[in-house]
Amino acid sequence: MADLIPLGPFPDAAGYGPAVRLDETDALAEYRSRFVPAEPGLIYLDGNSLGRLPIASVAETERVVGVEWGERLIRSWRDRWWELAQTIGDSIAPLIGADPGSVIIGDSTTVNLFKLAWGLLRLRPDRRTIITDNLNFPTDIYALRAAGDAAGGCSLAVCESRDGIIGPEEKIIARIDSDTALVSLSHVAFKSGYLYDMERITAAAHEAGALVLWDLSHSVGVVPAELGRTDAAVGCTYKYLNGGPGSPAFLYVNPELGVTNPLRGWWGHAAPFDFDLEFNPASGIAGFQTGTMPILSLSAIEPAVAMVAEAGIDAIRTKSVDLTSYLVDLFAVVLAPLGFTLGSPTDARRRGSHVSVRHPDAWRVNQAMINDARVLPDFRSPDNIRLGLAPLYTRFADVHTAIHRIAAVVADRELLAKYPADRSAVT
Ligand SMILES: *Cc1c(COP(=O)(O)O)cnc(C)c1O
Repeated sequence: MADLIPLGPFPDAAGYGPAVRLDETDALAEYRSRFVPAEPGLIYLDGNSLGRLPIASVAETERVVGVEWGERLIRSWRDRWWELAQTIGDSIAPLIGADPGSVIIGDSTTVNLFKLAWGLLRLRPDRRTIITDNLNFPTDIYALRAAGDAAGGCSLAVCESRDGIIGPEEKIIARIDSDTALVSLSHVAFKSGYLYDMERITAAAHEAGALVLWDLSHSVGVVPAELGRTDAAVGCTYKYLNGGPGSPAFLYVNPELGVTNPLRGWWGHAAPFDFDLEFNPASGIAGFQTGTMPILSLSAIEPAVAMVAEAGIDAIRTKSVDLTSYLVDLFAVVLAPLGFTLGSPTDARRRGSHVSVRHPDAWRVNQAMINDARVLPDFRSPDNIRLGLAPLYTRFADVHTAIHRIAAVVADRELLAKYPADRSAVT
Protein backbone atom coordinates (compact mmCIF):
# COMPACT_ATOMS: atom_id res chain seq x y z
CA MET A 1 0.00 0.00 0.00
CA ALA A 2 3.07 2.16 0.44
CA ASP A 3 2.11 5.77 0.92
CA LEU A 4 -1.58 5.69 0.23
CA ILE A 5 -2.54 6.09 3.86
CA PRO A 6 -0.30 8.00 6.24
CA LEU A 7 0.47 5.59 9.05
CA GLY A 8 1.53 8.11 11.64
CA PRO A 9 -0.91 10.05 13.76
CA PHE A 10 -2.27 12.96 11.80
CA PRO A 11 -2.62 16.34 13.46
CA ASP A 12 -5.74 18.06 12.16
CA ALA A 13 -8.60 20.36 12.98
CA ALA A 14 -10.14 17.94 15.47
CA GLY A 15 -6.77 17.96 17.19
CA TYR A 16 -4.32 15.26 18.07
CA GLY A 17 -3.36 17.32 21.13
CA PRO A 18 -6.36 16.42 23.30
CA ALA A 19 -5.72 12.71 22.74
CA VAL A 20 -2.11 13.04 23.82
CA ARG A 21 -3.13 14.98 26.93
CA LEU A 22 -5.74 12.34 27.80
CA ASP A 23 -3.07 9.65 27.45
CA GLU A 24 -0.67 11.61 29.65
CA THR A 25 -3.16 11.76 32.51
CA ASP A 26 -4.41 8.18 32.02
CA ALA A 27 -4.15 6.30 35.33
CA LEU A 28 -4.02 2.95 33.47
CA ALA A 29 -1.40 3.96 30.89
CA GLU A 30 1.33 1.65 32.22
CA TYR A 31 -0.72 -1.50 31.61
CA ARG A 32 -0.17 -1.24 27.86
CA SER A 33 3.48 -2.25 28.29
CA ARG A 34 2.37 -5.48 29.99
CA PHE A 35 1.11 -6.94 26.71
CA VAL A 36 3.20 -8.61 24.04
CA PRO A 37 3.91 -5.86 21.52
CA ALA A 38 2.18 -6.19 18.17
CA GLU A 39 3.84 -5.02 14.95
CA PRO A 40 4.74 -1.30 15.03
CA GLY A 41 1.97 1.02 13.89
CA LEU A 42 -0.79 -1.56 14.25
CA ILE A 43 -3.88 -0.33 16.05
CA TYR A 44 -5.78 -3.23 17.55
CA LEU A 45 -9.47 -2.53 18.02
CA ASP A 46 -10.71 -6.09 18.37
CA GLY A 47 -10.14 -6.71 22.07
CA ASN A 48 -13.88 -7.32 22.41
CA SER A 49 -13.44 -10.41 20.23
CA LEU A 50 -9.95 -11.65 21.13
CA GLY A 51 -8.02 -9.81 23.84
CA ARG A 52 -4.28 -9.25 23.44
CA LEU A 53 -1.65 -11.51 24.99
CA PRO A 54 -0.40 -10.47 28.45
CA ILE A 55 3.34 -10.97 28.86
CA ALA A 56 2.67 -12.69 32.19
CA SER A 57 0.56 -15.32 30.41
CA VAL A 58 3.50 -16.33 28.21
CA ALA A 59 5.64 -17.16 31.23
CA GLU A 60 2.80 -18.92 33.03
CA THR A 61 1.85 -21.14 30.08
CA GLU A 62 5.52 -22.02 29.54
CA ARG A 63 5.77 -23.00 33.20
CA VAL A 64 2.62 -25.11 33.09
CA VAL A 65 3.77 -26.93 29.95
CA GLY A 66 7.42 -27.34 30.96
CA VAL A 67 7.17 -28.04 34.68
CA GLU A 68 3.63 -29.13 35.51
CA TRP A 69 3.09 -31.24 32.42
CA GLY A 70 6.70 -32.01 31.47
CA GLU A 71 8.12 -32.84 34.90
CA ARG A 72 5.31 -33.37 37.38
CA LEU A 73 3.13 -35.25 34.91
CA ILE A 74 -0.01 -36.81 36.39
CA ARG A 75 0.93 -35.65 39.90
CA SER A 76 -0.04 -32.13 38.79
CA TRP A 77 -3.72 -33.05 38.95
CA ARG A 78 -3.41 -33.37 42.70
CA ASP A 79 -0.87 -30.52 43.04
CA ARG A 80 -3.02 -27.87 41.41
CA TRP A 81 -4.99 -28.79 38.31
CA TRP A 82 -8.01 -30.40 39.94
CA GLU A 83 -8.98 -27.14 41.71
CA LEU A 84 -7.91 -24.73 38.96
CA ALA A 85 -11.38 -24.14 37.50
CA GLN A 86 -12.70 -23.07 40.91
CA THR A 87 -9.61 -21.02 41.76
CA ILE A 88 -10.01 -19.00 38.57
CA GLY A 89 -13.76 -18.75 39.17
CA ASP A 90 -13.03 -17.21 42.58
CA SER A 91 -10.67 -14.67 40.99
CA ILE A 92 -13.36 -13.61 38.48
CA ALA A 93 -16.10 -13.37 41.14
CA PRO A 94 -15.16 -9.90 42.52
CA LEU A 95 -15.11 -8.44 38.99
CA ILE A 96 -18.78 -9.36 38.51
CA GLY A 97 -20.15 -8.79 42.01
CA ALA A 98 -20.44 -12.50 42.86
CA ASP A 99 -19.46 -14.32 46.05
CA PRO A 100 -16.49 -16.70 46.13
CA GLY A 101 -17.66 -20.25 45.49
CA SER A 102 -20.42 -19.16 43.10
CA VAL A 103 -18.35 -18.95 39.88
CA ILE A 104 -16.53 -21.67 37.96
CA ILE A 105 -14.72 -21.97 34.62
CA GLY A 106 -15.25 -24.65 32.01
CA ASP A 107 -16.85 -25.41 28.64
CA SER A 108 -17.75 -22.68 26.15
CA THR A 109 -20.19 -19.85 26.74
CA THR A 110 -22.73 -21.60 24.50
CA VAL A 111 -22.54 -24.85 26.46
CA ASN A 112 -22.75 -23.04 29.80
CA LEU A 113 -25.75 -21.03 28.67
CA PHE A 114 -27.49 -24.25 27.64
CA LYS A 115 -26.66 -25.97 30.95
CA LEU A 116 -27.88 -23.05 33.05
CA ALA A 117 -30.97 -22.26 30.98
CA TRP A 118 -32.09 -25.89 31.12
CA GLY A 119 -31.27 -26.11 34.84
CA LEU A 120 -33.21 -22.91 35.59
CA LEU A 121 -36.22 -23.95 33.49
CA ARG A 122 -36.51 -27.08 35.63
CA LEU A 123 -37.12 -24.80 38.63
CA ARG A 124 -40.20 -23.32 36.93
CA PRO A 125 -41.86 -26.40 35.42
CA ASP A 126 -45.29 -24.77 35.15
CA ARG A 127 -44.11 -21.80 33.12
CA ARG A 128 -43.58 -22.12 29.38
CA THR A 129 -41.90 -18.94 28.12
CA ILE A 130 -38.32 -17.71 27.83
CA ILE A 131 -37.81 -14.04 26.92
CA THR A 132 -34.84 -12.55 25.06
CA ASP A 133 -34.20 -9.82 22.45
CA ASN A 134 -33.11 -9.70 18.82
CA LEU A 135 -29.85 -7.92 19.72
CA ASN A 136 -28.64 -11.10 21.40
CA PHE A 137 -25.75 -13.13 19.98
CA PRO A 138 -27.22 -15.82 17.68
CA THR A 139 -25.59 -18.69 19.58
CA ASP A 140 -27.50 -17.56 22.69
CA ILE A 141 -30.76 -17.73 20.77
CA TYR A 142 -29.92 -21.23 19.50
CA ALA A 143 -28.93 -22.45 22.98
CA LEU A 144 -32.03 -20.93 24.62
CA ARG A 145 -34.31 -22.62 22.08
CA ALA A 146 -32.48 -25.91 22.60
CA ALA A 147 -32.83 -25.57 26.38
CA GLY A 148 -36.53 -24.80 25.92
CA ASP A 149 -36.90 -28.02 23.90
CA ALA A 150 -34.92 -30.00 26.48
CA ALA A 151 -37.17 -28.68 29.24
CA GLY A 152 -40.21 -30.10 27.50
CA GLY A 153 -41.30 -27.37 25.13
CA CYS A 154 -40.73 -23.85 26.44
CA SER A 155 -40.98 -21.31 23.66
CA LEU A 156 -38.70 -18.34 23.12
CA ALA A 157 -40.21 -14.84 22.83
CA VAL A 158 -37.79 -12.50 21.03
CA CYS A 159 -38.49 -8.81 21.78
CA GLU A 160 -37.41 -6.54 18.94
CA SER A 161 -35.29 -3.43 19.20
CA ARG A 162 -36.87 -0.50 17.36
CA ASP A 163 -33.60 0.57 15.71
CA GLY A 164 -31.21 -2.37 16.08
CA ILE A 165 -29.17 -0.30 18.54
CA ILE A 166 -31.14 0.30 21.75
CA GLY A 167 -32.30 -2.71 23.77
CA PRO A 168 -36.12 -3.06 23.95
CA GLU A 169 -36.15 -2.69 27.72
CA GLU A 170 -39.75 -1.47 28.01
CA LYS A 171 -41.06 -4.21 25.71
CA ILE A 172 -39.25 -6.88 27.71
CA ILE A 173 -40.61 -5.60 31.00
CA ALA A 174 -44.13 -5.39 29.56
CA ARG A 175 -43.80 -8.92 28.14
CA ILE A 176 -42.85 -10.60 31.45
CA ASP A 177 -45.87 -12.34 32.98
CA SER A 178 -46.92 -15.32 35.07
CA ASP A 179 -45.98 -17.72 32.25
CA THR A 180 -42.40 -16.40 32.03
CA ALA A 181 -39.93 -18.94 33.36
CA LEU A 182 -36.72 -17.20 32.31
CA VAL A 183 -35.42 -13.89 30.95
CA SER A 184 -32.02 -14.17 29.26
CA LEU A 185 -30.13 -11.25 27.72
CA SER A 186 -26.63 -10.12 26.88
CA HIS A 187 -25.54 -7.50 29.41
CA VAL A 188 -23.85 -5.66 26.51
CA ALA A 189 -25.17 -6.34 22.99
CA PHE A 190 -22.44 -7.71 20.71
CA LYS A 191 -23.21 -5.50 17.72
CA SER A 192 -24.42 -2.13 19.02
CA GLY A 193 -22.78 -2.23 22.43
CA TYR A 194 -26.09 -1.40 24.19
CA LEU A 195 -25.73 -1.90 27.96
CA TYR A 196 -28.80 -3.20 29.75
CA ASP A 197 -29.89 -1.98 33.16
CA MET A 198 -29.24 -5.31 34.87
CA GLU A 199 -30.86 -4.33 38.13
CA ARG A 200 -34.08 -3.09 36.52
CA ILE A 201 -34.62 -6.15 34.31
CA THR A 202 -33.74 -8.52 37.14
CA ALA A 203 -36.18 -6.78 39.50
CA ALA A 204 -38.99 -6.92 36.92
CA ALA A 205 -38.40 -10.64 36.33
CA HIS A 206 -38.24 -11.44 40.03
CA GLU A 207 -41.41 -9.51 40.73
CA ALA A 208 -43.23 -11.80 38.30
CA GLY A 209 -41.60 -14.93 39.76
CA ALA A 210 -39.33 -15.44 36.73
CA LEU A 211 -35.59 -16.21 36.76
CA VAL A 212 -32.82 -14.28 34.98
CA LEU A 213 -29.75 -15.52 33.12
CA TRP A 214 -27.24 -12.90 31.93
CA ASP A 215 -24.56 -13.27 29.29
CA LEU A 216 -21.59 -11.09 30.26
CA SER A 217 -19.40 -11.98 27.27
CA HIS A 218 -19.11 -8.37 26.07
CA SER A 219 -19.06 -6.74 29.50
CA VAL A 220 -16.87 -8.85 31.78
CA GLY A 221 -13.60 -7.06 32.42
CA VAL A 222 -14.87 -3.64 31.31
CA VAL A 223 -18.27 -3.07 32.94
CA PRO A 224 -18.87 -3.89 36.62
CA ALA A 225 -21.88 -6.07 37.49
CA GLU A 226 -23.75 -7.06 40.63
CA LEU A 227 -24.48 -10.69 39.87
CA GLY A 228 -25.10 -11.50 43.52
CA ARG A 229 -28.57 -10.01 43.09
CA THR A 230 -29.38 -12.06 40.00
CA ASP A 231 -29.85 -15.79 39.41
CA ALA A 232 -27.25 -16.93 36.92
CA ALA A 233 -24.75 -15.75 34.32
CA VAL A 234 -22.21 -16.92 31.77
CA GLY A 235 -19.45 -15.16 29.87
CA CYS A 236 -16.32 -15.49 27.77
CA THR A 237 -12.80 -15.17 29.16
CA TYR A 238 -11.08 -14.52 25.81
CA LYS A 239 -12.53 -11.06 25.16
CA TYR A 240 -11.76 -8.22 27.63
CA LEU A 241 -10.33 -10.72 30.13
CA ASN A 242 -7.54 -11.61 27.65
CA GLY A 243 -7.59 -15.35 28.45
CA GLY A 244 -6.52 -16.47 24.96
CA PRO A 245 -8.20 -18.05 21.93
CA GLY A 246 -10.83 -20.55 23.02
CA SER A 247 -10.18 -20.11 26.74
CA PRO A 248 -13.10 -21.71 28.60
CA ALA A 249 -16.07 -19.62 29.71
CA PHE A 250 -17.21 -18.85 33.24
CA LEU A 251 -20.53 -19.65 34.81
CA TYR A 252 -22.16 -18.06 37.87
CA VAL A 253 -25.15 -19.41 39.72
CA ASN A 254 -26.80 -18.10 42.86
CA PRO A 255 -26.13 -20.84 45.45
CA GLU A 256 -29.48 -20.29 47.16
CA LEU A 257 -31.49 -21.36 44.11
CA GLY A 258 -30.55 -25.01 44.22
CA VAL A 259 -30.07 -25.28 40.44
CA THR A 260 -28.35 -28.46 39.34
CA ASN A 261 -26.36 -29.20 36.23
CA PRO A 262 -28.50 -31.16 33.76
CA LEU A 263 -25.38 -32.41 31.93
CA ARG A 264 -24.17 -35.14 34.25
CA GLY A 265 -20.50 -36.02 33.97
CA TRP A 266 -17.89 -37.50 36.23
CA TRP A 267 -16.33 -34.10 36.98
CA GLY A 268 -19.63 -33.01 38.49
CA HIS A 269 -19.85 -36.13 40.69
CA ALA A 270 -19.44 -35.79 44.46
CA ALA A 271 -16.77 -38.53 44.46
CA PRO A 272 -15.43 -38.88 40.91
CA PHE A 273 -12.70 -41.34 41.84
CA ASP A 274 -15.15 -43.80 43.36
CA PHE A 275 -16.22 -44.50 39.75
CA ASP A 276 -19.68 -45.26 41.01
CA LEU A 277 -22.21 -46.13 38.31
CA GLU A 278 -24.83 -44.03 40.10
CA PHE A 279 -24.56 -40.28 39.62
CA ASN A 280 -24.34 -38.36 42.87
CA PRO A 281 -23.89 -34.64 42.16
CA ALA A 282 -21.18 -32.61 43.83
CA SER A 283 -22.71 -29.88 45.93
CA GLY A 284 -22.30 -26.25 44.97
CA ILE A 285 -20.62 -24.80 41.93
CA ALA A 286 -18.31 -27.83 41.44
CA GLY A 287 -21.36 -29.74 40.23
CA PHE A 288 -21.44 -27.59 37.08
CA GLN A 289 -18.32 -29.26 35.76
CA THR A 290 -18.84 -32.04 33.25
CA GLY A 291 -15.60 -33.54 31.91
CA THR A 292 -11.84 -33.05 32.11
CA MET A 293 -10.75 -29.41 32.17
CA PRO A 294 -8.48 -28.10 29.36
CA ILE A 295 -5.64 -27.18 31.72
CA LEU A 296 -3.42 -25.49 29.12
CA SER A 297 -6.28 -23.19 28.10
CA LEU A 298 -7.10 -22.49 31.73
CA SER A 299 -3.51 -21.56 32.53
CA ALA A 300 -3.44 -18.38 30.48
CA ILE A 301 -6.58 -17.05 32.17
CA GLU A 302 -5.07 -16.71 35.66
CA PRO A 303 -2.43 -14.01 35.07
CA ALA A 304 -4.74 -12.16 32.68
CA VAL A 305 -7.57 -11.94 35.23
CA ALA A 306 -5.06 -10.93 37.92
CA MET A 307 -4.08 -7.93 35.79
CA VAL A 308 -7.72 -6.82 35.40
CA ALA A 309 -8.21 -7.17 39.17
CA GLU A 310 -5.06 -5.19 39.87
CA ALA A 311 -6.11 -2.33 37.58
CA GLY A 312 -9.55 -2.37 39.22
CA ILE A 313 -12.86 -2.78 37.41
CA ASP A 314 -14.08 0.71 38.40
CA ALA A 315 -10.96 2.41 37.03
CA ILE A 316 -11.30 0.33 33.86
CA ARG A 317 -14.96 1.34 33.43
CA THR A 318 -14.05 5.02 33.94
CA LYS A 319 -11.43 4.88 31.19
CA SER A 320 -13.72 2.85 28.96
CA VAL A 321 -16.44 5.52 29.18
CA ASP A 322 -13.84 8.22 28.44
CA LEU A 323 -12.51 6.27 25.44
CA THR A 324 -15.90 5.57 23.87
CA SER A 325 -17.05 9.16 24.57
CA TYR A 326 -13.91 10.50 22.91
CA LEU A 327 -14.58 8.23 19.92
CA VAL A 328 -18.22 9.32 19.64
CA ASP A 329 -17.20 13.02 19.77
CA LEU A 330 -14.59 12.49 17.07
CA PHE A 331 -17.08 10.47 15.02
CA ALA A 332 -19.44 13.45 14.86
CA VAL A 333 -16.69 15.74 13.52
CA VAL A 334 -14.78 13.38 11.22
CA LEU A 335 -16.95 10.44 10.11
CA ALA A 336 -20.56 11.69 10.17
CA PRO A 337 -19.88 14.16 7.31
CA LEU A 338 -18.55 11.21 5.22
CA GLY A 339 -21.83 9.29 5.30
CA PHE A 340 -21.25 7.22 8.45
CA THR A 341 -23.95 6.77 11.06
CA LEU A 342 -23.44 5.72 14.66
CA GLY A 343 -24.53 2.14 15.37
CA SER A 344 -24.16 2.49 19.15
CA PRO A 345 -25.96 4.38 21.93
CA THR A 346 -24.97 8.04 22.32
CA ASP A 347 -25.56 7.87 26.09
CA ALA A 348 -22.34 6.56 27.68
CA ARG A 349 -24.30 5.10 30.63
CA ARG A 350 -26.02 2.73 28.19
CA ARG A 351 -22.90 1.76 26.25
CA GLY A 352 -20.30 -0.98 26.75
CA SER A 353 -16.71 -0.66 25.56
CA HIS A 354 -17.11 -1.04 21.81
CA VAL A 355 -18.64 1.36 19.30
CA SER A 356 -20.10 0.42 15.92
CA VAL A 357 -19.88 2.82 13.02
CA ARG A 358 -22.06 2.11 10.01
CA HIS A 359 -21.51 2.85 6.33
CA PRO A 360 -23.00 1.46 3.09
CA ASP A 361 -19.46 0.44 2.04
CA ALA A 362 -18.55 -0.95 5.48
CA TRP A 363 -17.42 -4.34 4.18
CA ARG A 364 -14.92 -2.77 1.78
CA VAL A 365 -13.79 -0.17 4.29
CA ASN A 366 -13.17 -2.88 6.87
CA GLN A 367 -11.00 -4.87 4.46
CA ALA A 368 -9.00 -1.79 3.51
CA MET A 369 -8.55 -0.95 7.20
CA ILE A 370 -7.04 -4.37 7.83
CA ASN A 371 -4.93 -4.69 4.69
CA ASP A 372 -3.92 -1.11 3.94
CA ALA A 373 -4.35 1.03 7.03
CA ARG A 374 -3.02 -1.23 9.80
CA VAL A 375 -6.10 -0.96 11.94
CA LEU A 376 -7.80 -4.17 13.07
CA PRO A 377 -11.51 -3.62 13.74
CA ASP A 378 -14.14 -6.16 12.79
CA PHE A 379 -17.17 -6.27 10.58
CA ARG A 380 -20.66 -7.30 11.64
CA SER A 381 -23.39 -7.49 9.02
CA PRO A 382 -24.99 -5.71 7.39
CA ASP A 383 -22.92 -2.53 7.65
CA ASN A 384 -21.22 -2.30 11.05
CA ILE A 385 -17.54 -1.72 11.66
CA ARG A 386 -17.00 -2.53 15.32
CA LEU A 387 -14.32 -0.65 17.18
CA GLY A 388 -13.46 -2.38 20.46
CA LEU A 389 -11.70 -0.18 23.01
CA ALA A 390 -9.82 -2.11 25.69
CA PRO A 391 -8.82 0.27 28.51
CA LEU A 392 -5.75 -1.76 29.48
CA TYR A 393 -4.07 -1.24 26.12
CA THR A 394 -6.05 1.16 23.90
CA ARG A 395 -4.77 4.76 23.97
CA PHE A 396 -6.78 7.87 23.16
CA ALA A 397 -4.19 8.54 20.43
CA ASP A 398 -5.05 5.14 18.92
CA VAL A 399 -8.71 6.15 18.72
CA HIS A 400 -7.76 9.45 17.10
CA THR A 401 -5.48 7.83 14.53
CA ALA A 402 -7.92 5.00 13.76
CA ILE A 403 -10.84 7.38 13.11
CA HIS A 404 -8.69 9.42 10.73
CA ARG A 405 -7.46 6.33 8.95
CA ILE A 406 -11.09 5.27 8.44
CA ALA A 407 -11.78 8.72 6.99
CA ALA A 408 -8.77 8.45 4.67
CA VAL A 409 -9.79 4.97 3.51
CA VAL A 410 -13.41 5.85 2.76
CA ALA A 411 -12.33 8.87 0.71
CA ASP A 412 -10.04 6.73 -1.44
CA ARG A 413 -12.37 5.26 -4.09
CA GLU A 414 -9.50 3.64 -5.97
CA LEU A 415 -8.36 1.79 -2.87
CA LEU A 416 -11.88 0.59 -2.02
CA ALA A 417 -12.43 -0.62 -5.58
CA LYS A 418 -9.72 -3.27 -4.99
CA TYR A 419 -12.12 -5.10 -2.68
CA PRO A 420 -15.32 -6.99 -3.43
CA ALA A 421 -18.42 -5.17 -2.22
CA ASP A 422 -19.86 -8.43 -0.92
CA ARG A 423 -18.89 -10.38 2.09
CA SER A 424 -17.00 -13.58 1.37
CA ALA A 425 -15.47 -14.72 4.69
CA VAL A 426 -15.65 -14.14 8.39
CA THR A 427 -13.07 -12.02 10.20
C1 LIG B 1 -18.57 -14.02 22.14
C2 LIG B 1 -19.93 -14.44 22.56
C3 LIG B 1 -20.29 -15.80 22.59
C4 LIG B 1 -19.33 -16.88 22.14
O1 LIG B 1 -19.72 -18.13 22.61
P1 LIG B 1 -18.70 -19.36 22.57
O2 LIG B 1 -19.50 -20.50 23.01
O3 LIG B 1 -17.57 -19.01 23.51
O4 LIG B 1 -18.19 -19.49 21.19
C5 LIG B 1 -21.56 -16.12 23.03
N1 LIG B 1 -22.44 -15.17 23.42
C6 LIG B 1 -22.12 -13.86 23.41
C7 LIG B 1 -23.12 -12.85 23.87
C8 LIG B 1 -20.86 -13.45 22.98
O5 LIG B 1 -20.54 -12.16 22.95
